[in-house]
Amino acid sequence: MADSTESGGAVGSAGEQSDLVSALPIGVYRTTPSGRLLLANKALADIYGYPGVDSLVEAAAEGKLAWYADPDRRDAFVRLMESWGEIDRLVSEVQSRDGRRIWVSETARFVRDADDTPLYYEGTIQDITDLLSVQRALRESERRFRDYAEIASDWFWEMDETLCFSYFSDTLATETGIDPQKLLGRGRPESALGDTGDPHWQAHLDDLKNRRAFYDFRYPFKRPDNHDPLVISASGVPIFDENGVFRGYRGVGSNVTEEARVQQSLYEAKLQAEFANRAKSDFIANVSHELRTPLNAILGFTDIMRDELFGPIGVPRYTRYLEDIHTSASHLLSIINMILDLSKIEAGKLELDDVEITLDDCIRGAIELINPLARERQVRIEFTPNPDIPTLIADERALRQMLLNLLSNAVKFSESRSSIEVAVDIGADGEGAVVRVSDVGMGIPEDKLDLVTQPFGHTESSLSRSYEGSGLGLAITRRLIELHDGALEIESTVGQGTTVRLIFPKERRGGVVADRQM
Ligand code: ADP
Repeated sequence: MADSTESGGAVGSAGEQSDLVSALPIGVYRTTPSGRLLLANKALADIYGYPGVDSLVEAAAEGKLAWYADPDRRDAFVRLMESWGEIDRLVSEVQSRDGRRIWVSETARFVRDADDTPLYYEGTIQDITDLLSVQRALRESERRFRDYAEIASDWFWEMDETLCFSYFSDTLATETGIDPQKLLGRGRPESALGDTGDPHWQAHLDDLKNRRAFYDFRYPFKRPDNHDPLVISASGVPIFDENGVFRGYRGVGSNVTEEARVQQSLYEAKLQAEFANRAKSDFIANVSHELRTPLNAILGFTDIMRDELFGPIGVPRYTRYLEDIHTSASHLLSIINMILDLSKIEAGKLELDDVEITLDDCIRGAIELINPLARERQVRIEFTPNPDIPTLIADERALRQMLLNLLSNAVKFSESRSSIEVAVDIGADGEGAVVRVSDVGMGIPEDKLDLVTQPFGHTESSLSRSYEGSGLGLAITRRLIELHDGALEIESTVGQGTTVRLIFPKERRGGVVADRQM
């Protein structure tokens, strides 16, 4: 809009405008052909920051009206007026009275009389500053979306309300070689391989029917030209218009063929490993069983011969040999039994037969069994019962086996003429129960503490080993206490001794204790 440089006679006060012009949300003006402002409305005054039409007209008369921010634009406008030209939606930046910069869109033309003489110039001005910033934000968000789409290996897709594909981003073609044109207008099941009636597909179709979002739906995708099928992962959300009417789905897709292949081969490897493990356990169980039968015969017959049941042997050396045969066969039998136990536990075939066990009796019974060995090695076993923990809920055979393993180790690795301490303590949590076996023997090096609870784990190599043992006792003990939801703890200092703890959780403490505590 031009500002008037002519003085006096300005018309266009608010009172002269029609109600319609006053009420228009866009600025309207009329000037003489030379540019003197004749008429304006409130919206125009607002755009330029004037309190009313009168002050706007006054400012125009005094030549103070805001002008194009860009001088070139101003000159172009003047030239346009001089040549009686028209402008159509010209977008320019103008400055308001308070110095604010505003973007306006302007349309103007000359009104002429019958002789084609220009009567006046009139036009509209619209403040489009907000509109432009919204457009700019929209463009920015579109650019961002395009950038993401370009660098992502996922593609974007849309479906219409009939669940047919209506859009794919370019990544579909680059990632999969699939021509999007072949999929547009078709539903997802049409491109899938296999039975879409299976429960996996049915659950997906049910999601679509109920307009639910879905995540990582995987399906084999049929490719043309006998190419191997792809595995596609799709996630999507339903789209609704402002009236809540369903308009389709929009989401992302990705090619997970390689990932699915790796998963499948891992799964197959796991199945194979499980099969091999089962075969190993079955083999060990069978071999052990086959070995036990003849061993029992050897033990039985050497017993009879040792006792000279059917007459004297005569040669004393034979008696010593018989003793050796008996000891070796017993040792072999105990190893075989341990291997069998361990394979049973590892195959998950050992089920606990939980009963309430009187702890004192069980510990004393185990000590009695170990005592001959202890006496032989001149080791004393001292037991301190704990009246606060009279019973445990456990598998009796397992508990006895754990105690025997710990006691025989303590005796085996103790100095002669030393003592072994067996005690029952309340757990460190103040609730569980602990059976503790301590010796003052050779101890276990710290870096071997993990090894000794592994099957066949010894602190010494088999060549230099000075102690007899299968290396299975602690491995079995650890697994047995874990089956009781407890833990095995070993504390040891080389040259000073070892303390092994069987830690039972509070649930394993018997009812009598609970009664007593109340
Ligand atoms: P083993 O039949 O050989 O005793 P274990 O599994 O019971 O088998 O023990 C494994 C190894 O742990 C033993 O060979 C020994 O080296 C070490 N060990 C176990 N208990 C003790 C202990 N109380 N003192 C010293 N070393 C021990």
